[in-house]
Amino acid sequence: MKTTKYLIIGQGLAGALLGAKLLEREAEFLIMDAFSPHAASQVAGGAFIPIVFRTLKKAEMIDEYLPALFNTYDSLEKLTGKKFLHMIPSLKLFNRDDIHKWQAAKKSTAGEFIKDLHSQVDISGVKPGFCGAVIEPSGWVDTKLLTAGMGEWFLKNNLLIQEKLDYNRIEFKKDGMIVNGRIKAEKIIFCEGAGAFHNPWFGNAGFSLNKGEILEIEVPGLNDDYIIRGDVFVMPLGNNRFRVGATYDQNNIDHYPTEAGKQQLLQKLDAILSLPFKVVSHHAGIRPSIKDRKPVMGAHPHFPQLFIFNGLGSKGVLYGPYRAIEMADFLLHGKALPAMVDVNRYF
Ligand SMILES: Cc1cc2nc3c(=O)[nH]c(=O)nc-3n(C[C@H](O)[C@H](O)[C@H](O)COP(=O)(O)OP(=O)(O)OC[C@H]3O[C@@H](n4cnc5c(N)ncnc54)[C@H](O)[C@@H]3O)c2cc1C
Repeated sequence: MKTTKYLIIGQGLAGALLGAKLLEREAEFLIMDAFSPHAASQVAGGAFIPIVFRTLKKAEMIDEYLPALFNTYDSLEKLTGKKFLHMIPSLKLFNRDDIHKWQAAKKSTAGEFIKDLHSQVDISGVKPGFCGAVIEPSGWVDTKLLTAGMGEWFLKNNLLIQEKLDYNRIEFKKDGMIVNGRIKAEKIIFCEGAGAFHNPWFGNAGFSLNKGEILEIEVPGLNDDYIIRGDVFVMPLGNNRFRVGATYDQNNIDHYPTEAGKQQLLQKLDAILSLPFKVVSHHAGIRPSIKDRKPVMGAHPHFPQLFIFNGLGSKGVLYGPYRAIEMADFLLHGKALPAMVDVNRYF
């Protein structure tokens, strides 16, 4: 029987980041993951941006999130030898009617991230008539490559068990738990993404799942100096390939790409692109979103050996690194979690 202090369930972005933070702190842990190609981290756009377009304000806690983001992805790139953080400015397209709002935003606290305002965007492949705002820092994380790279590393170091946790096979003992009949753990931290909806202990911790669909397209000649952002983002991947996303659907929670989702993305794409394009692939996944759009973290109120680190929603790339540090500090040093992310708000 394998024994460990901490057993992390799930090695999507959340489990990989928490594992990395426990590793840094030399804690004893194992990760159990049943890989799914439909998990959010396998299909995500992975984009991050420091301002909120709806309000044109600086994103909440961005001064905390960004340094953690840079430090964490940089150190994981060094650990795995893979490149998954891509820094690239965003070009937000907007209509002339909104220019005053953007000029005001440039003078506000969001202004440090608005590098340029253009009264006319003139770049290859984008329809004329748009104004534009260049936003930096911005970029994307290849979450599929990150989880694959970290998975390889954990496996090579005997820290990853590739199997599914069966909730019915957690036996509670005086000195810990026996999981799937063969792993003894003192504490379990659930990082199951949308799978947590079925978790008997945390399934009702505020989940409000959100399906997303995403396309990869080929557009020879389209400018690839920016993530172009209209009502969808168009993110350059190299070799004339671009990722386009994403839809939001709270009613049909499954991982099947739909014709309706594709048409929605194509319509929004048609509104901004002037060049012909070909759809190369189409995927769907489920965001582990929470009603109040904040992560859910911490210990179960009645089962103090069970923990959750989840609810990264649509902003996992930005929230994940900072929140994984908080979660590791909570687990290892009992450092209190901020009330706004503490899972106890749903119990
Ligand atoms: C279409 C789409 C676009 C997105 N775009 C962006 C974006 O641009 N920027 C951004 O920041 N975020 C984006 N996201 C959100 C982002 O993907 C998530 O925030 C993040 O990936 C969630 O990671 P996670 O580890 O919590 O969940 P997941 O990636 O779902 O990982 C959970 C893991 O746990 C495993 N698991 C579950 N149950 C068990 C079990 N019982 N036993 C063993 N293993 C189990 C699963 O197989 C999986 O490997 C997008 C999501 C979607 C769907």
